[in-house]
Amino acid sequence: MFEKILIANRGEIALRILRACKELGIATVAVHSTADADAMHVRLADESVCIGPPASKDSYLNIPSLLAACEITGADAVHPGYGFLSENARFAEILADHNLQFIGPKAEHIRLMGDKIEAKKTAKRLGIPVVPGSDGGVGPEDDAIAIARKIGFPVLVKAAAGGGGRGMKVAQTEADLLMALSTASNEAKAAFGDASVYLEKYLQKPRHIEIQVLGDGRGGALHLGERDCSLQRRHQKVWEEGPSPILSPEARARIGGICAKAMQDMQYLGVGTIEFLYEDGEFYFIEMNTRIQVEHPVTEMITDIDLVLEQIRIAAGGDLPCTQDEVNIIGHSIECRINAENPETFRPSPGTITQYHAPGGLGVRIDSAVYQGYRIPPYYDSLVGKLIVHGKNRPECLMRLRRALDEIVVDGVETTLPLFRALARESDIIEGDYHIHWLEQYLAGKAAKT
Ligand code: ADP
Repeated sequence: MFEKILIANRGEIALRILRACKELGIATVAVHSTADADAMHVRLADESVCIGPPASKDSYLNIPSLLAACEITGADAVHPGYGFLSENARFAEILADHNLQFIGPKAEHIRLMGDKIEAKKTAKRLGIPVVPGSDGGVGPEDDAIAIARKIGFPVLVKAAAGGGGRGMKVAQTEADLLMALSTASNEAKAAFGDASVYLEKYLQKPRHIEIQVLGDGRGGALHLGERDCSLQRRHQKVWEEGPSPILSPEARARIGGICAKAMQDMQYLGVGTIEFLYEDGEFYFIEMNTRIQVEHPVTEMITDIDLVLEQIRIAAGGDLPCTQDEVNIIGHSIECRINAENPETFRPSPGTITQYHAPGGLGVRIDSAVYQGYRIPPYYDSLVGKLIVHGKNRPECLMRLRRALDEIVVDGVETTLPLFRALARESDIIEGDYHIHWLEQYLAGKAAKT
């Protein structure tokens, strides 16, 4: 097992990793930018190193600084969390070159899944059903209109290097297509330095359902059921739950089995998420994330498996925590991503938290790194924390969620809490009857009324 882990991240996920390390008896090193000197993960870690100024590119993404921090502290492994360097294959390789263990998948798998065109090809080869679309990238030399006609309109132009919903444009008609191609391609070039785009059938009312997988890197792998992340704004998840309100045990076993088998064939190492759109009883692969995800607690609550702790154990050469037959889905869990944003305009609202009270009680979990008097810096994402609730079934989970949302206090900044309080009382949500466009339509309807 590792002796000292450097946590190359900040905020709630840094704290989440720190907790797993403490339980395993592993010493921790926090790194931070000058803007995060007062952060909770810095206070709670055994050691901390300042790695640069506020801008992420100069601190949390600064590989030489991170290597120096490992060197100074004698860390033997690095946990990248999510975002920042978590899906940077080069970073994993550089760490290996310095005899440091990257807590995550093999570099070749990170690279493969980081290119969505290659990821789709690989998924197809491994027997995973994919969204109909172009066979590969669509460049200026291709007849995009002919390809799109074959797929059938509307089509979605997507960036090969995409992430966070960027570089994605819908083309309803042939007339829209050329414009969508150039806008998506320019956006992708600016955001990711890679202009490659491809085409996919644009599904009308799918749900976003993703399968959590875990592999030992030696051909052992299992799936831990699904999360339904259909409630999204601008293709970004807002509310996640598991199990999906609409998936039958048979459908779960079928798609879960396909994913676990694919991971066995790849000899996948660590945690991963295989994302699908689900429409009319069919699954369509869209991408795979080769890291721990923001919404991982949903799966932890319903399987009682600590995913971050298992990530660390497996990276150190450990075995899978159980067999597929021993994975039990118990009850229901919902996660709300509480952001420091205006709940109507979604404009970020950095500032000082003047009052903070975390809710408690049976089945209520808060993953957050804020505290009373904490100043949310303007440089990073606006996540204040995640409220995760568990119940023996969905109605009980919703009941606890409404109560916890009424109890939580975050004053001094605007937050998205009022939105969640309303959502938890909406009849479509209570009935589990929603799809990936539901939230945008709901928000547009509310804006029209005011
Ligand atoms: P990113 O990596 O940018 O998050 P994804 O491929 O994971 O991009 O897609 C994010 C979201 O965009 C999905 O959850 C879904 O809401 C929407 N989306 C992606 N592909 C399609 C599609 N073919 N049809 C309809 N919506 C899609």
